[in-house]
Order: sequence, then structure tokens, then C-alpha cells
Amino acid sequence: MNAPEETGPPASRAADARVIAGIDIGGTKISAVLVDDAGSVRARGVVPAPARDGGAAMADAAAGLVRELCRTHDLVPAAAGVGAAGVIDQADGIVVAASATFAGWSGFPLADELSARLDVPVWVENDVNAFLLGELRWGAARGESDVLGIMLGTGVGGAIALGGVVHHGVHGAAGEIGHTPGFGDLACTCGQTGHLETLASGTSIARRYREATGSGASAPEIAERARAGERAALAVFADAARATTLAASTAASLLDLDLVVVGGGVHEAWDLLEPVIAETLRTDAPVSGFPLRIVRAEIAVDAVARGAAALAAARCAEPALATA
Ligand SMILES: [Zn+2]
Repeated sequence: MNAPEETGPPASRAADARVIAGIDIGGTKISAVLVDDAGSVRARGVVPAPARDGGAAMADAAAGLVRELCRTHDLVPAAAGVGAAGVIDQADGIVVAASATFAGWSGFPLADELSARLDVPVWVENDVNAFLLGELRWGAARGESDVLGIMLGTGVGGAIALGGVVHHGVHGAAGEIGHTPGFGDLACTCGQTGHLETLASGTSIARRYREATGSGASAPEIAERARAGERAALAVFADAARATTLAASTAASLLDLDLVVVGGGVHEAWDLLEPVIAETLRTDAPVSGFPLRIVRAEIAVDAVARGAAALAAARCAEPALATA
């Protein structure tokens, strides 16, 4: 499936071999994809993330993965994009702040360090911003301009696009919908209480189900039990969907958005979320009167890595760079 094209004249093969690398750097693993101009994934791979060994070790691992994928698939990288957890100075490609999982990561000049290793231009974004960029270019938000992206995963992340461009905000932290308050009195991972994340993350779904039933099931296992009709399992997914919809409706009201794209691991249970989302939109729609659409992400696999590739592809296409 990912075999390189073996036929055709050398010139067309060279053009065909040109790809953009998209890299997803997380606390436990680094994954990468090589995509062509049409957005098709030509190769993908994953390596463990040496998060405790410092920024240079992380950059070595990411660059090594991309080089290995290019070599084995006979592809040539033209640029690379990175989606990384934490607060990112995307203008300079520097990690501003990250969780304690990452040693020597805050302040690390990731774009420059990766660019030196791969010998191509590199752009870095927050991972949820990267996810939204991927959906805008190749996914559920194609052709849209004003969109809220929400990732329901280990935590809850958000990203906002206005006029087709990701809005970063004054501090680069725009869209952090997971830590908006008003959703009860449970303790959040950030130390505060009642944030959206306390109901809507996969971690919260598992924790609340465990507290209700004593069963230490994972979110996918709880989803299966909900599909079988188990009330406690249905309840935690319903709470997650309702809270997510209320937060999305609030954001949509503030910014006059009409589309929300939901991704992350929890969105695999869309069949459980969707009915509650629809019901909540009927009772708590934005006051504008214009319908708010909340849809599932189309790029499920490699969402952050493919979004990071979309970022790099877009930057490569900018006139100032194309003529450079
Ligand atoms: Zn919080």
C-alpha cells in the first residue's frame, strides 16, 4: 500500500516522491506521517518518546523516525510540521510550557532543532491546533472559515479558526475549552474544579464510571457497556456529550461560529454522543437562531500528525516562501 512508485521517467518519479512530514510529539510516543500534495498518507510510523531525556533526545527521535520512513519508502521530505502538547510559540517554533512529563522541554527551540536535523523548513503548532488545521484542509471543516475544534482525549483540548486561520490569542492559548468552569464540582487535572474536562475527557469518563460502579473499565469498554444498555455507562457518556455541547454552544455564541468538529479518542463513541448532542442543541442552542452543527472529525487516525503536515503544506504554499 505504501510501496514507492517504481515506474515512470526519473523526473516524474522525483516529483512524485516529494512529501510533507507531519509529526505528533506526545509524552509517550512520537508518530509521523508522510503525506503527498493531495493529503494522502504515503507512510506512517511511531517510536517511543524519550520525554525524560530532554529536548535534544526528543528531536533526535522525531528526526530519526522521519528519515527512516523516507528511506524505506523512497520519499523525499520538502518540509515538516509538528503538533506538540503544551503551549507553543508557533511564530518561533519554541515550546513555551509543557507538563511535567517532559524534561527539558519548556524553552526548547523545537523548529530550529528539527530543521537542523532534517535539513527542511519546520513549523510547530500546539497539537489541538494542528488537529483543527488538518480538519480544515482535509477533513470535516473543508471549505469552512470559522470553526471550533474540540479533542476529547486523555484531557480536553480546543482550537479556534477564524477566517480560515487558527486564532492563537494574546498568549497563544486560545481555545482552551477543556478548562472552562461551570460543569460541577469535580477536581480538574489543572487543580481547579468543575472544568469541562472533569466530565468530557476519556480519563474522566473512566473515573466517574469507576466511582459509580466500582469497575475499572477503559472508556472504549464503557462505551460497549453503554451500547448494551447499561445505565451507568450511558450516563457518563451522556454527561460528557451534554457538557461538551454546552461549552461548544457558549463558544459559538461568543464568536458566531456555526461549526464544531469533535475529535480525540472519545469521539469513537459518536453513536453514544450524537443523540445527546442533538437533544442539548435543541434545548441550549446559540441565541443567534442560526443552527450550530457539531460533527465528528473525519481524520480519525493520525489526526495531529496529518494536521501538522497540513500546517507545513500551507506555509510552503505562501507566496513569500514559494519564491524564496
Ligand atoms: Zn481544568
